[in-house]
Amino acid sequence: MQNVRTKVSNFIFMFIVGVFVFSAVFAFSDSVQAATSTKTKTIAAGTKYATKLYIIKSSNPGPVVMIVGGVHGNEPAGYKAAAKVKNYSIKKGTLLIIPQANKRAVAAHKRSIGGNDLNRDFPTSRYDKPDSTISKAIFKVVKDYDVDWLMDMHEGVNYQKVRSSGSVGQSLIYYPDTQTKKIASKIVRSFNKRIKTSYKDFSLLRHPVSGSLASASAKVLGVNSFILETCTRDSLSNRINYQLKAANMLLGHINMK
Ligand SMILES: [Zn+2]
Repeated sequence: MQNVRTKVSNFIFMFIVGVFVFSAVFAFSDSVQAATSTKTKTIAAGTKYATKLYIIKSSNPGPVVMIVGGVHGNEPAGYKAAAKVKNYSIKKGTLLIIPQANKRAVAAHKRSIGGNDLNRDFPTSRYDKPDSTISKAIFKVVKDYDVDWLMDMHEGVNYQKVRSSGSVGQSLIYYPDTQTKKIASKIVRSFNKRIKTSYKDFSLLRHPVSGSLASASAKVLGVNSFILETCTRDSLSNRINYQLKAANMLLGHINMK
């Protein structure tokens, strides 16, 4: 009897030790996974266009994703969502965020400042160069960090495409590539599933406009790129949620989040 009791208590003891070791190993591997560091850099430093670049790096190697907001200063969902993404932690790779690409335009709540549209200043071919101080600084980041995926957060005034004004409406515009198409369709499908009024559906479009950051990054540097355009007629919180959901779906798709 004594023997059986000893055996049982030994078993219980070993079980407790086992659980303890197991959870300690788990906690340790978890802390290894969560080892991310965030650094900030100023791009176009020393100029009136100076703006912040956030670099979130995981200790686990992986893809490089860049998320940009505020290319147009009157599209708040973009720069507000990007400002939230800068607080993310990731499982692997590198996440680069420029929340306010055109900081002066954001401060003035204007699409652009000084006449030229930043989203037409990027190279239109591999023989072209960025046209302005800020486009040059942003494009250098895409190049230097060897970005794999780029999401540029924008907004438009219409739900649907208006041919006469060139407005693309509520849409996801990707540069044609099989990998990009896969995640782009997934995002649009998941958004439209919850939209009850069909004219408010997101359109899945190809070919971001020539001279845009998304177009130049894809065409010149081979980056998987897309633009998400939310509609300013919707509430700001909904628009920010769409932008964040798309960013999260992209990061989830490549196992970074
Ligand atoms: Zn825009």
